[in-house]
Amino acid sequence: MHLRRLELQGFKTFAKKTVLEFMPVTGGQRGVTAIVGPNGSGKSNLADAVRWVMGEQSLKLLRSKKSEDVIFSGTEKRPRSGFAEVTMMLVNDDENATIDLPEVVVARRLYRDGQSEYEVNKQPARLADVILLLAQCGIGQRTYSVIGQGMVDAVLSASPAERKEFFDEAAGLRVFQLKRTQAVNKLDATRDNLARSDALVREIEP
Ligand code: ATP
Repeated sequence: MHLRRLELQGFKTFAKKTVLEFMPVTGGQRGVTAIVGPNGSGKSNLADAVRWVMGEQSLKLLRSKKSEDVIFSGTEKRPRSGFAEVTMMLVNDDENATIDLPEVVVARRLYRDGQSEYEVNKQPARLADVILLLAQCGIGQRTYSVIGQGMVDAVLSASPAERKEFFDEAAGLRVFQLKRTQAVNKLDATRDNLARSDALVREIEP
């Protein structure tokens, strides 16, 4: 799986629609893209956009105080945006991939009134679907897919439990862990429903 394109509109410094194309694999060689620019020009905002479209919920990791802080806040010349949108396109060029889609397009949109939307390949999706799909693509939300400043140090000094999370993701276990969590939640909900129906039966049995 490789990142092919990132589209931003109304996200932090990217008021107007901005499209970044990343180098495809050519002749078996993978490209490296470097983004350079003066301080404060929005380089880290691009990394934030990747985290955000992958469903990141931590405001701290997104360097924000409120969710709507990711929406372009306006300048003297340009009014603020009504929504922020990021679309990430991944191409599936891995022979051993666990999914059979040629490409995966994930989008996230947030409006100023708090309304939030996710899409997977242009279809409305839930956050849980996005996280599961990305895990199937071998991309984890919080581990080594996006390596932020200071993270290398954090990995080197991580506790064995924290380091295990890294290896779990690299070994492709995340998807099973997510599915197990979803199954456990469903079982819990079913147990609650059973308890409620038992109580109802006891009430009306007489
Ligand atoms: P450095 O090289 O200093 O790390 P950088 O190029 O990584 O800088 P970023 O941290 O990505 O820069 O961008 C910071 C800029 O983004 C700040 O000027 C900040 O005002 C601006 N910014 C952040 N959120 C918004 C927003 N919602 N609307 C408009 N501008 C924003």
